[in-house]
Amino acid sequence: TPAVMWFRQDLRLADNAALKAAAEAGPLVCVYVLDDATPGGWAWGAASRWWLHNSLVRLAEGLARFNVPLVLRRGPADKVIAEILHETGAASLHFTRDYAPWSGALEQRVKTIATEAGAACHRYGGFLLHEPEAIRTGQGQPYKVFTPFSRACFALGDPRPPRPAHKNLKAWEGRIKGDKLEDWRLLPRRPDWSTGFAIWTPGEQGARQRIETFIDDALSDYAEGRDRPDLARTSRLSPHLHWGEISPVQCWTAIRSAMAAAHGRLDRQGEKFLSELLWRDFSYHLLHHWPDLPSTAFQEKFAAFPWRHDPKALRVWQRGETGYPIVDAGLRELWATGYMHNRVRMIAASFLIKDLLIDWRQGETWFWDTLVDADIANNAASWQWVAGSGADAAPYFRIFNPVLQGEKFDPEGDYVRKWCPELRDLPNAVIHRPWEHEAGVKGYPARIVDHAAARHRALLALKSLS
Ligand code: FAD
Repeated sequence: TPAVMWFRQDLRLADNAALKAAAEAGPLVCVYVLDDATPGGWAWGAASRWWLHNSLVRLAEGLARFNVPLVLRRGPADKVIAEILHETGAASLHFTRDYAPWSGALEQRVKTIATEAGAACHRYGGFLLHEPEAIRTGQGQPYKVFTPFSRACFALGDPRPPRPAHKNLKAWEGRIKGDKLEDWRLLPRRPDWSTGFAIWTPGEQGARQRIETFIDDALSDYAEGRDRPDLARTSRLSPHLHWGEISPVQCWTAIRSAMAAAHGRLDRQGEKFLSELLWRDFSYHLLHHWPDLPSTAFQEKFAAFPWRHDPKALRVWQRGETGYPIVDAGLRELWATGYMHNRVRMIAASFLIKDLLIDWRQGETWFWDTLVDADIANNAASWQWVAGSGADAAPYFRIFNPVLQGEKFDPEGDYVRKWCPELRDLPNAVIHRPWEHEAGVKGYPARIVDHAAARHRALLALKSLS
């Protein structure tokens, strides 16, 4: 009797506990379910769909090396899993745990369905370094602040080493029907906005190459370099981690080994990278304990914040036409490539929330649709962090100045010139303040707001809460 492996955000063969256990339990039936119903408004956005399509192609190729087909089905996951168990008569079901707010109930329903079908149901970790329940304060409470959370994680030492890739997988001899990937229409048609996405290589192999390149080229300067959008100093592993093409344990171990080989110990650069991986765990820790995080301000007083309803300004921001070069460059990078550098995400988010007084949920939704790494926990936690309404958030009154941020983190203007070619010929001195250029700039929009005035307005809005 076969064992069903239900792939979710663990689209990899190596270090996949669920797949390993399924392969040991019986001949394999591998399935991926596209479920647009259960997540409600959080069904995968357009950029995520592009990634998913390509990642499924790679996963199917990886499985095909062992002659194991990947069955694709569409529908509410519990209903589809019930059908698969019924059609195969499988004795067991294996999957990796997911932490989205609707997942707990879904996994519970799947367990009931499996039990009724006479199949053993097994759920595994692997998406995070630490399960959200495993890390508690001395009082047994969940953490709300990152630093003690990360300290508690580091105190646990290194996670277990990753499991090696499979030497062999055996397919079930029966056959069940599946969809054609093309019929899911996950890729954009007309217009095809994804040409700039060619910088990515979705899939397990692409993830492995990313981390190797990062270790060779950027890790030694990560702690400072990570704040510079003009330099390629971050790993760009986020979409790979989001889809589980690489596990955080594999990342952690690779960094530890590289550091051990280079210096015999973990240095500041490596520690900084591991702590970023822990930010990811921390976002999920928050989401697990406060499942309203994507939709509701964590700090209650922000419920009454006087947001402005301004669809026109929102559109200007989305298109990268605010007149502030670093903000515009970020939003254009996002549209073109499905990615935005972390420092610029913070500046662009701050601009929407504080300079335009537009609700952070509008920005969160835009990112959800356009980021290839759009992630329910990281996105919500980060937007709330910038908004000042989050658990461990930057205080609202700390308002990024987009000119000074640009001058500090893109000092030569290389990043801005790349994404705002209208500004290409400006001298460095005015690249982040083009309105000061004597000759003016053709084709680049005027500022949508004056930052000093907007800052004042934002502080007044904050004051209205108290
Ligand atoms: P690296 O610097 O190489 O970091 C390595 C890994 O650590 C990342 O791949 C990521 O998994 C994790 N990480 C790094 N920074 C953070 C962080 N601040 N919070 C949580 N995890 C982190 N990240 C997402 O994965 N999905 C999102 O939807 C998302 N939305 C964001 C929205 C806003 C407004 C902001 C300010 C940040 C958001 N981030 C999000 C966090 C961060 O910007 C990205 O994880 C990072 O830019 C990814 O690039 P990288 O892989 O090169 O990062």
